[in-house]
Amino acid sequence: MCRAETLRWLRETGPSALEQLYREADRVRREWVGDQVHLRGLIEISNICSRQCGYCGLRAGNRELVRYRMSETEIVACARLAATLGYGTVVLQAGETESLSGAFIANIVRAIKTETRLAVTLSLGERSLADLELWRGAGANRYLLRFETSDPELFRRIHPPAAGMMRDRIDLLRALRGLGYEIGSGVMIGIPGQTYETLARDIERFRELDLDMIGVGPFLPHPATPLGCGDAPAAVPPEEQTPNSEEMVYKVVALTRLACPEANIPATTALATVNARNGRELGLLRGANVVMPNLTPPVYRRHYEIYPNKACIAERPADCDGCLRGRIAQIGRIPGTGPGGRQRGQPHE
Ligand code: SAH
Repeated sequence: MCRAETLRWLRETGPSALEQLYREADRVRREWVGDQVHLRGLIEISNICSRQCGYCGLRAGNRELVRYRMSETEIVACARLAATLGYGTVVLQAGETESLSGAFIANIVRAIKTETRLAVTLSLGERSLADLELWRGAGANRYLLRFETSDPELFRRIHPPAAGMMRDRIDLLRALRGLGYEIGSGVMIGIPGQTYETLARDIERFRELDLDMIGVGPFLPHPATPLGCGDAPAAVPPEEQTPNSEEMVYKVVALTRLACPEANIPATTALATVNARNGRELGLLRGANVVMPNLTPPVYRRHYEIYPNKACIAERPADCDGCLRGRIAQIGRIPGTGPGGRQRGQPHE
């Protein structure tokens, strides 16, 4: 699809035209990745962060947050639960902090790989090549690092660079691929200063990077962050500014499926946060094929507040499991089995 056509869809508001886009995305999803919905157990292992991202509630400057780091024993216990619940993958996610040392994470990855058959995905921010290499050697399979926006100037403003970090996120994704990881990325939709043109370019970038996993969700303002307090990182005319609406997320999910038919695309928690009733289902019906049940113990979960009113914040792991399986069944899909990595090549069946 050319840029102009993507832009036309991003600006489309007619319900019957959009139905056509969603139907096509659903068809391509079925043809390329089938009816399985892969379950990735999410473990939010720490909310400690040394960065100052303008959008994220975990930013170092947020002094109101109670900080935690789960122990190796607790993390491995969550992974065991994931295996018991029949998931194929665990995702270890955290703020960006050296207090999660290379060796600490490597030991945990090794323990999970020894005890279970789970695929391990890491989402720990921008780390040194030495750490990324160590973790890959320990058995980690995938790495998630959203580039957040393809506009470099906007990115710098909302995500001030760390001292000494030479690589940007795009370089890091390429390096991760070189190390043999499956790579995942994505963007937020409706960031103040993000234009329709930028969002169209984001989707082109997904394709150029040949991403294995692509997560997109609405930007949700957090009051303890500059962006949540009305900071405008860039002045754009109102007609160029993307909204952070539910509909805009579905459009991007659908266009992403058309651009990257083989990718694993989650119906994200942020989508469930803007529509608790059936946001996830609609995501799955409009291009997505993955959900991420939360396995973080409730005592920690409420402190992993990247944005306010996060869906499932008070649930227990078993609640999330039952709820998501019910939702998958209701729309006539089936829970995935096995690790659910990217399959290259042919349309499905
Ligand atoms: N420290 C890791 C994990 C961050 S949380 C990293 O930086 O990669 C995972 C994702 O949550 C981020 O990549 C971002 O896209 C999303 N996120 C953070 N704050 C958000 C907000 N206020 N609204 C919506 N999504 C947000």
